[in-house]
Amino acid sequence: MSELILVVEDEAPVQEAIVEALEASGMRVITASDGERGLELLRAERPDLVLLDLMLPKIGGMDVCVLIREHSEVPIIMLTGLAAEDDRVEGLSRGADDYITKPFRVRELAARLRAVLRRSQHWSSDDRELIEIEDLRIKPAAREVWLDDRRIGLTPKEFDLLEYLARNAGNVVPREQILDRVWGEDKYIDPRTLDVHIRWLREKLEESPSEPQRLLTVRGEGYRLVGPEAEEA
Ligand code: CA
Repeated sequence: MSELILVVEDEAPVQEAIVEALEASGMRVITASDGERGLELLRAERPDLVLLDLMLPKIGGMDVCVLIREHSEVPIIMLTGLAAEDDRVEGLSRGADDYITKPFRVRELAARLRAVLRRSQHWSSDDRELIEIEDLRIKPAAREVWLDDRRIGLTPKEFDLLEYLARNAGNVVPREQILDRVWGEDKYIDPRTLDVHIRWLREKLEESPSEPQRLLTVRGEGYRLVGPEAEEA
């Protein structure tokens, strides 16, 4: 399928010219006229690349770039009328992949996008961040868990719990910390809820749930997800 490009640009004529140029070169395009809408579309549509104007109403492009980078490694090209070197450097340091200065030739635009897409193309948008612990693979963006080549179905809370333990793999994570980070606002729940979720996770991830090899109880302290062999002491 052709690449999906998210264009965040508030000036209608510029937005239209960009859409026309990109569609003419075979890309699919979705558009937002401000940063908030852009962030919504990013989450909902998972574009392959974001073309992001610097001067936007409400949230500026630089801040949108930072917000995108909190959750996503999607390639970002900054689009701006400011040719100043400072903005270029700042944009790149905030996580943009490339930078195009207005006015630009529309034919040049598609070529620049293709170059950035090529550099990132060995990553699919879902695999960009992958937590891998031996045969266990967690794809946070897609909220998928795989064991060997089998996809494991988890409830949202089971997923949050596993992801949190996996990010701390190899370390004992205290019960209080887990309740605080995974249950957050609802942490005044019955603490046994945590144990119940651990049991459910074991049933899905352990060969023998009553003799866990992966998701260990550290009595009196908390839980530990066994890390990659190479990192385990
Ligand atoms: Ca603008």
